[in-house]
Amino acid sequence: MCGIFGTTLHKGKAAPVIHQALERLEYRGYDSVGLATIHDNKLSIKKDQGSIKDVDSKLNFDELCGKIGVGHTRWATHGIPSFENAHPHMDCKKNVAIVHNGIIGNFIELKSELERKGHIFNSRTDTEVIPHLIEENMMDEDFIEAVRLAARKLEGSYSLAAISTHSPELLICVKKESPLVIGIGKNANFCASDVSAFLPLTKKALFLDEDELAVVKSDKIEVMNFRTGQDIQHDISEITWSTEDASKSGYKHFMIKEIHEQPLAISNALRIQNIYYDLIASKMHKAEQVYVIGCGTSYHACLAASYLFSKLAMLQAKPIVSSEFIEQYGHAINKKSVVLAVSQSGETADTLDALRFAKKMGASIFGITNVMGSSITRLSEVYIGQNSGPEIGVAATKTFTAQLSVLTMLAVILAEKKGSISNNELEIMKKMLLDVPKVMKKTLSTEVKIKKLVKRYKDKSSFCFLGRGINVTTALEARLKLLELSYIPSLAYPAGESKHGFIAVVEEGYPIIFIAPKDGTYDKILGNIMEMKARKASTIGIIQAGDEKLKQLLDDYIEIKDGSMNFLSPLIYIVPLQLFAYWMAVERKCDPDKPRNLAKSVTVE
Ligand code: GLU
Repeated sequence: MCGIFGTTLHKGKAAPVIHQALERLEYRGYDSVGLATIHDNKLSIKKDQGSIKDVDSKLNFDELCGKIGVGHTRWATHGIPSFENAHPHMDCKKNVAIVHNGIIGNFIELKSELERKGHIFNSRTDTEVIPHLIEENMMDEDFIEAVRLAARKLEGSYSLAAISTHSPELLICVKKESPLVIGIGKNANFCASDVSAFLPLTKKALFLDEDELAVVKSDKIEVMNFRTGQDIQHDISEITWSTEDASKSGYKHFMIKEIHEQPLAISNALRIQNIYYDLIASKMHKAEQVYVIGCGTSYHACLAASYLFSKLAMLQAKPIVSSEFIEQYGHAINKKSVVLAVSQSGETADTLDALRFAKKMGASIFGITNVMGSSITRLSEVYIGQNSGPEIGVAATKTFTAQLSVLTMLAVILAEKKGSISNNELEIMKKMLLDVPKVMKKTLSTEVKIKKLVKRYKDKSSFCFLGRGINVTTALEARLKLLELSYIPSLAYPAGESKHGFIAVVEEGYPIIFIAPKDGTYDKILGNIMEMKARKASTIGIIQAGDEKLKQLLDDYIEIKDGSMNFLSPLIYIVPLQLFAYWMAVERKCDPDKPRNLAKSVTVE
């Protein structure tokens, strides 16, 4: 998501320091930018939609005076990129300015409460509730306590930096789930989304833990737990990373950083307001035909969704790659059709083309995308922002699991609407989905074993991935990752189809990767494993932890703890396979962040 930065200096101007730091953070978000400083007890703000360079050439950030300030480079989650929605945001009296990274889950409730008390809102963001909440608290409390009480009221993910004319020497920082680190300089201190922002200024850092609030002055830092008010002492770390390493949080590539960011990306994706799901689900419920369209990885999310819509909500939804949509179904579209399009960038040319065609034929259009204000958001009646933040690695990882989480929630809500599941089942399913980030954190620890597996199989010239049911999707997506990153020609099939052709290429040592959770397809996939073993293939399985039968049978296996995820299994079982593709690329000296011939957003047909 976005990049935030704040500084308080003993002397000199804060604005140029913040401006340069934001340039180092721009990779985290780039739809809008803004700075606020305090000078002569007055807050001044410069902000707008656009890149740092463009907005600065219009507004000249460095002109702002004052020794203290905050800055933000945005990746919109709530409200399109616009002047009003750009951070910093202020309270009614313009005494408090804040920058925020994350999502306030309960902003609708807080906003109505604050509006009832007379607060006037200027933006469509979730963030704006924060300065108003602080303003409200400041009627009785000082700035520090006002921020602390506000932080306690917020739900969701939030790192914040706040300044106020009431205490113009204080920079207050809050961390919950989203990243925030304090930089300790000489007569100057900083806070930032990651250390890359302040590395040219200091190598000394203090890493905040969850639920912590730091009161930062130019010569002193105090940290407390904002829930209990208890003081906290932290060790100071000496950073040895280069600025480039720091923007990857010390990981070698953005892709591996993004694979590890998935638990947070999914939590954020699931913080979408129910109203959007409800609107889309109602239309799908009434439609005569439903199509789910996308390209590449987004298509795989659509394919998985078609299993979920059918299994949970008894709704037939046709998944189709966008480039084939018009030819295959275009002439069957009418006013009673719903087209749900999935595109990370919201600009995928084939998807837009299909949507424009469907719209002309009278269909209702809905979208799921990671980019607010993108073409898909404009074409759709209702859209859902998947809230994954920018993905820099060209191969989609966190954006895939976030899309799939959103689609799963949509299937659950649709099931509720259609009455195909009971209230009790609904609650259980929602809880299981909300627990996915926890299970995923455990699954990421398979990386050690994956690296060994990669070393063993790195010289193979082809792989095949087989899955059944919803995990056909996992097989296809795993194959796509391997193709994209390592350029190894590979296959993927519904395991049942493997006998109809593919089996002819199997010979001794040919590596076949089975996605084999213990679900309703288990016995059948066991049969497929036996068939391939009989042809002396090397068999590798992604299996449920403790599955002794498969452990005996397979040549190699990766165990998934808490693996009985059933309809959620693609979200978890894809993780070791993303890691497999990544480490295979590293082993074969391919650049995982910039695979050859590929572009992140495919804007040509
Ligand atoms: N939710 C906030 C917004 O949409 C912050 C997004 C971010 O982290 O960039 O403005």
